[in-house]
Amino acid sequence: MTVGIVGAGQLGRMLALAGYPLGLDFLFLDPAPQPPAGAVAPVLRGAFTDTRLLGQLSRRCEVITFDWENVSVDALRALPRAARICPPIPALAASQDRMSEKRLFERLEIPTTRWRAVSSRAQLSRALRDIGLPGVIKTRRMGYDGKGQAVVRTPEDTERAWNELGNVPLLYEEYVPFDCEVSIIGARSGHGEFVVYPLNGNIHAQGMLRLTRAPFGPPRWHTLAARYLQRVVTHFRYTGIATIEFFVRRGRLIANEMAPRVHNSGHWTIEGAETSQFENHLRGILGLPLGSTRPRGFSAMINLIGSMPSRTAVLQQAGVHLHDYGKQARPGRKLGHCTLVEASARARDARARRLLAQIGAPGWHPLRSGR
Ligand code: AMP
Repeated sequence: MTVGIVGAGQLGRMLALAGYPLGLDFLFLDPAPQPPAGAVAPVLRGAFTDTRLLGQLSRRCEVITFDWENVSVDALRALPRAARICPPIPALAASQDRMSEKRLFERLEIPTTRWRAVSSRAQLSRALRDIGLPGVIKTRRMGYDGKGQAVVRTPEDTERAWNELGNVPLLYEEYVPFDCEVSIIGARSGHGEFVVYPLNGNIHAQGMLRLTRAPFGPPRWHTLAARYLQRVVTHFRYTGIATIEFFVRRGRLIANEMAPRVHNSGHWTIEGAETSQFENHLRGILGLPLGSTRPRGFSAMINLIGSMPSRTAVLQQAGVHLHDYGKQARPGRKLGHCTLVEASARARDARARRLLAQIGAPGWHPLRSGR
């Protein structure tokens, strides 16, 4: 059985690596000359909008899924009716546009930030009047890893951000002085079965995820987050893995965004849970029973960004798992990650702190702040 994956990045690569033990084959579609998943499976080389290649993918594969959500919904809708696309196209469409995403959260009564759509100067002035400063200006589409957004604290910042980003539809939202950030990851199968992983505690810098710890936070946060995620997946009759990221402010969860795919904050599940998010995504989209999400301990995942540490230095530490995506190093690029699993939260944090000191970006000490 062959699974077609649109996007051959590291998420696709980890999906394929999780699928081989189940006897699955993979075929990717990606425009890049040497994408990470190309080292482990064949790739149809071409644009995500190439209807001929998408057609080929749907003919050669039982099901089509994604490692990247910003694919052309119109191109997918143009595929023959028989093509099985998971997760459903409306879930992809909602996650591609921050305005649709906000409306979805509101409709499902999932608390989110106050926001306004902004397509003109006049709308920006109105949004600033209604919501006030500080705030965040974000492009409605194609924003990820902190790209296409600017925190604005003064009218001058706003002017600068408008000049920089104002040529595309935007969204203005309140700035949340959050206590921490968390994400919930879960899987739903076509039979309506739903499982969730323990809550992830995430630390970002420059808009990019640096560190995830799981399980994280009090049980109440987990229960709330899981309830919100269940509303989303039920709404779409979703299959596969879905994620919601939240800000936590004074014990309240405020949804920031959703991702209709496996997520960077779930990489720890490869070694830290009984079934990884990658395997559960495949199980979900293929109608197989979902696997246990029980954690094997207390995990930390550190993203390796911009440059890779010495392989020997990382591997000489027992219990540290290295994932090298095989990408060319470039500043700000996610090149790999490390995971460790410990018997207690305290042991995990101490170990993560040591590993970060060894490989983390200089001047960046997330756990020193006590978060
Ligand atoms: P996003 O692309 O929306 O996930 O934003 C990336 C990161 O920027 C988030 O994980 C936060 O750390 C930060 N951020 C985004 N929006 C806000 C906001 N409204 N208030 C505070 N921080 C934000």
